[in-house]
Amino acid sequence: MLIDIHAHPAMNAFLWGRDLRRHYWTGPVHTFNPLASLSDFKLLEKGGVDVLWSSLHIPERQFLECGVIRFFARFFAGGRRLLDDNAWDNLLAQMADMERQVARAERFELARSNAELDAVLAAGKIAIVHTVEGGDVLSAGLAESDVPGRLARVDHLADRGVASITLAHLFPNDLAGHSEAIPEDQRKFPICPLDTGVDLARGLTATGRAVVERMVERRIVPDVAHCTPVARREIYDLVDDRIPIVASHVGVRSMNDVDYNLDRGDVEAIAASGGVVGVIFMPYWLDREHPGPGLDAIWRTMATLHEWTGSWEHVAIGTDFDGFTDPPDDCADASKLPLVGTLLQKSGLAPADMKAVLGGNARRALRDGWR
Ligand SMILES: [Zn+2]
Ligand SMILES: [Zn+2]
Repeated sequence: MLIDIHAHPAMNAFLWGRDLRRHYWTGPVHTFNPLASLSDFKLLEKGGVDVLWSSLHIPERQFLECGVIRFFARFFAGGRRLLDDNAWDNLLAQMADMERQVARAERFELARSNAELDAVLAAGKIAIVHTVEGGDVLSAGLAESDVPGRLARVDHLADRGVASITLAHLFPNDLAGHSEAIPEDQRKFPICPLDTGVDLARGLTATGRAVVERMVERRIVPDVAHCTPVARREIYDLVDDRIPIVASHVGVRSMNDVDYNLDRGDVEAIAASGGVVGVIFMPYWLDREHPGPGLDAIWRTMATLHEWTGSWEHVAIGTDFDGFTDPPDDCADASKLPLVGTLLQKSGLAPADMKAVLGGNARRALRDGWR
């Protein structure tokens, strides 16, 4: 079983108005190319992906402060929605779009619970599981004091079968502090320099605590990717192993010492919760000093997670394909994911450990954390 715990075909379809049953060729994929399609249904099928944690994400409004982006946004259906509607309404629209895309694709089916996931897999189909990236959507359009309104939105997402929420993202939100996660050359792009407002002292806010509590209650797996190190620690303490915690698309600090990546304490806490760490398929984050083609850095990251936890049970794949990333040259889209199995085999992993990394661990995290 092959599971990718973080990719964005839903955002790709939403922004560019695409049909995920088709593969759109849009130029080079071995570089940062926001128009590329790396995880459409054709590529997922070709790559043998069985389950995709399909991350719903609405690009933050801060991007629209850039006149150039605002100008081009008008040319795309998704861009017009970003300009005209609030992030929560857009999230629901993206979710509905994705459900329509799945409904008309023969080999794909939405799974809104563990029981549904088992049934989809038993039928030999590919399962799409909703997740959400960016807790700012929970607050969009609500008064600062309206915590019940935010919790009602968590309930709504739980009812729709959302399995996980990535609390922080690229800009400040009222749940948790975020780490810098925009590569330097994009942040300093001369036409539109971006101020990401990183405050490393910011942890989990009172609102964030209430939201995480509700997620634990409603069985939505907390995803600490993008959080500040202090926010991550506060989430581990608050959750206290009641539900698995994941970091869905990250690297490790021993290979690239940035706040976005996990240190040994993070990995041990996630392992203690029964969760998984999804290794991001982006050399820039994994090993900035030696960007290389990528698969080698993916392997070394996995080996580090193994060394820190003494097992393969907390290692997973979280590509972030179609998340405006620069993917590895030697594994640039979902159709190339079988190369990961080859890599693990060549590295001498026992068949049971290989199965765990490729999908077993991610399946277990859902079994233990989701409804
Ligand atoms: Zn992300
Ligand atoms: Zn993402």
